[in-house]
Amino acid sequence: MSERIFIGVAWPYADGPLHLGHIAGAYLPADIFARYHRIKGNEVLMVSGSDQHGTPITIKAEQEGKKPGEIAAMYHQQFLDSWQKLGISFDLFTNTGTTNHAEVTHDIFLTLLDKGYIYRDTVSQPYCPRCQRFLPDRYIEGTCPYCQSAGARGDQCDDCGKPLNPVELVDPRCRLCSTTPEFRDSEHFFLKLSAFQDRLSDWVSDKTYWRPNVYNLTQRYLKEGLRDRAITRDIDWGVSVPLEGFEKKRIYVWFEAVIGYLSAAKEWAKLSGDGEKWRSFWQGEVKIYNFIGKDNIPFHTLIWPAMLEGYGGLNLPYDVPANEFLTIEGRKLSTSRNWAVWLPDYLSRYEPDPLRYFLSINMPEAGDTDFSWREFVRRNNDELVATYGNLVNRVLTFVYKNFNGGVPTYDDIDTSGNELIGKCDAVFIAMDNLLSQCHFKQALKMAMTIAHEANRYLDEKSPWKIIKEDRQAAADSLYVALTVISRLKTMLYPFLPFSSQKLHELLGFEGNIEDDGWQFHSPLPGQKLLPPEPLFSKLDEELVEEETARLGHTFS
Ligand SMILES: [Zn+2]
Ligand SMILES: [Zn+2]
Repeated sequence: MSERIFIGVAWPYADGPLHLGHIAGAYLPADIFARYHRIKGNEVLMVSGSDQHGTPITIKAEQEGKKPGEIAAMYHQQFLDSWQKLGISFDLFTNTGTTNHAEVTHDIFLTLLDKGYIYRDTVSQPYCPRCQRFLPDRYIEGTCPYCQSAGARGDQCDDCGKPLNPVELVDPRCRLCSTTPEFRDSEHFFLKLSAFQDRLSDWVSDKTYWRPNVYNLTQRYLKEGLRDRAITRDIDWGVSVPLEGFEKKRIYVWFEAVIGYLSAAKEWAKLSGDGEKWRSFWQGEVKIYNFIGKDNIPFHTLIWPAMLEGYGGLNLPYDVPANEFLTIEGRKLSTSRNWAVWLPDYLSRYEPDPLRYFLSINMPEAGDTDFSWREFVRRNNDELVATYGNLVNRVLTFVYKNFNGGVPTYDDIDTSGNELIGKCDAVFIAMDNLLSQCHFKQALKMAMTIAHEANRYLDEKSPWKIIKEDRQAAADSLYVALTVISRLKTMLYPFLPFSSQKLHELLGFEGNIEDDGWQFHSPLPGQKLLPPEPLFSKLDEELVEEETARLGHTFS
């Protein structure tokens, strides 16, 4: 029976390009999962969008003399382009600047207010007397009280990573004019998270199938006790507060961005022509998955579930498979220091599947992992090209040339051939299990063992040597190899969609590989092959030095 799967992926801030940390953290695993479920014939809705609000964008806009909306629109376009080139197959990638998103946010805000889960309180906020404005988060700077770094912000010190409150800053100053701020009272709305302590503890208690990092961190927050959080800000860029007297305030970005999962589903439904269709992905028999980086865990395992619980009538997440971080050449990724590999940059020079392969086989599922150009080239050349690509290429080229461009007719498949095909079937079942539980790295490793085994089998059978004496024996072993290759294209499809589609066509199958389903179709004897082409290209070792030298320099 087909399942219904909703995949909500973290909303990237539209204040800069995407980098490999984003991709390894959330977008690639989400896409692998979506493709796996789609090829299985399940109903999938995968959504996300660019987060157009928040102070990083207003600050970037001020620095560049642009409007926040212009910055957000520019990066939104760039994101769409990157998804297309990398094959991240969203059903809808929208943004938080839409009227629909504001309406859904207002509905949740007002419902929670009405039910007593949102309340007003007065707080003391930094205020710049010269600019005559409040200074939220990044608009106030000073010296970090923990590490004495001079450039700490009102919400965090980038040098030591400590989250901060504006009052903690030593020598605080306004980011815009350097005036020393004063503190003034300001009325804000608060989400009454404390009211959900027991309900969320109950809800989390049976989520032992979550990844240990996600489960343990969530339990730790619960043990510390949930505290109410301010959900409005004294800024003028963001979703408005739908109440009189609050025209100069906006809903805080963390509160409204998570609502994007729901608003995007509603937008998708409207675009599909059936405005009520979103319900089948939010109510009843549906599993909701949120793919995010580890820095977002409490927002998705506690805060958003609390909002949903308070609102009522909607499903809470089934799983939140958060990944750990990707380091670059052994160092923590830093966008401000340009210690990052930018996705548009990568895609302008290289193919998408080698990156998808590297980030999958090296996915930071259970701990941080590292990206280095040397390792990227090694995995491309030794694993994609030499193991999988070479298997495909030598078989297709030899068969094409010696059997009139078609699949040979087999006579007798011997024990070792049957064993290899049997292993394929066993790995296929194991992969099914692993993929459904979001263990992507291990699933890919298993598929690659089949490519290894098939190479060994061919070396042993040597059809290229025996074809002159025993054409039928050569045909038999090549038929086994073609059968295995045909299975590999399906097993590897969620990870390597571009090369799997290409192999699908090279083998003489028609249409979209996804429509063939998560099952094996052996090539039929006599089936016409397309003229063979290599699936992957070897990368030049020299690029390691060139690419590594770009790190840490100004990005333009
Ligand atoms: Zn610090
Ligand atoms: Zn100022």
